[in-house]
Amino acid sequence: MGEAIVVLNAGSSSIKFSLFAARGEELSLSLRGQIEGLYTAPHFVAKAPDGRQKAEKSWGEGTKLGHEGALEHLVAYLRGELAGDQLAGVGHRVVHGGMQYTRPVRVDAAVVKALEKFVPLAPLHQPHNLAPIRLLLERQPALPQVACFDTSFHRSNPDLAQRFALPERLHREGVQRYGFHGLSYEYITSVLPKYDARAAAGKTVVLHLGNGSSMCAIDAGRGVASTMGFTAVDGLPMGTRCGALDPGVVLYLMDQHGMHARAIEKLIYQESGLLGVSGISSDMRTLLASAEPRARLAVDLYLYRIRRELGSLAAALGGLDAIVFTAGIGENSAEIRARVLRDAAWLGAELDAAANEKGGPRIGAASSRVSAWAIPTNEELMIARHTRSLLATTKETVS
Ligand code: ADP
Repeated sequence: MGEAIVVLNAGSSSIKFSLFAARGEELSLSLRGQIEGLYTAPHFVAKAPDGRQKAEKSWGEGTKLGHEGALEHLVAYLRGELAGDQLAGVGHRVVHGGMQYTRPVRVDAAVVKALEKFVPLAPLHQPHNLAPIRLLLERQPALPQVACFDTSFHRSNPDLAQRFALPERLHREGVQRYGFHGLSYEYITSVLPKYDARAAAGKTVVLHLGNGSSMCAIDAGRGVASTMGFTAVDGLPMGTRCGALDPGVVLYLMDQHGMHARAIEKLIYQESGLLGVSGISSDMRTLLASAEPRARLAVDLYLYRIRRELGSLAAALGGLDAIVFTAGIGENSAEIRARVLRDAAWLGAELDAAANEKGGPRIGAASSRVSAWAIPTNEELMIARHTRSLLATTKETVS
């Protein structure tokens, strides 16, 4: 009998889950899936690591299963799938750990209370991330839970990188640059030595390009700067988020369009980015396949901002040894990778076109001064690893 770890990533309308089995030092994925449409038309699906469907269930249109009902279903299903393993604990993806949580934490009622303080900093995500934690604490208090944060990786940033040029009182109140996608950057950092020892010990920019996109400067394994700031709307344009925006635009929208916070929030989080510029889609595949000038414009703008941020992050690092692409677009789009690397020729990056078309992992030419890689990220595995190691070190205190 071995140990199993469940990883949960709860959003506003879905809960994604993975089940890992501990085999010696290794953690292997047993299955993954999600329940979507929690408040509209709930649909549950679980798949084996090879993509084979293992289970499915639909609730009728209009069923409000909610986080609570979904969690009940999931826990019952996952317990049935343990195959003799003991459920050691549940690891949760939590978007915000503030300045306080520089690493994952074992959750109890006091920690939940502390994490609730960050709801105003991430109102669209934090409450949903906390919902299953609270429910499990109530229903299954003996089940160990660990919270892993998207912000923690960036706490090694120098103080200057975490500041806005605002009055000190706002800085103290928590108006600071936090950075996100930290679990992805941490995973890439953990595997980079296997690919490129020089990059792992040197200066690397990782591009996490998915629906949410950001870039992170990493020096000898430590995050030093990120394109995302106070919230995950900053930095690069994304599927539906605008990225960095002159705050004067927000004032203009309030003054001239009479827009209030919620309307501006909807505009900059859901109606902008690739979708807003193209007017066609937030999906990079659709835009790359389209001949519409506005689709091309959206892709061009995305790449232009990446090019500028790359220069900025290289400046923060004081040099550059490697560029790493990850997440949906970074892992799968040879075209985007090629264009980013061509734009980065001035930094010493040289593309190996054939290797890039094949998907890497090495996509830079052998002669390239700056190496280039496409490496799949694995945030769930990172959470499972953290959960396992944290529970191992706190086992004495577990009843
Ligand atoms: P999330 O941030 O939601 O986890 P993903 O990391 O899955 O998102 O990335 C989703 C994005 O990846 C979408 O824009 C999708 O179009 C893009 N993508 C996936 N495969 C490809 C591909 N082959 N070429 C271009 N873009 C792709």
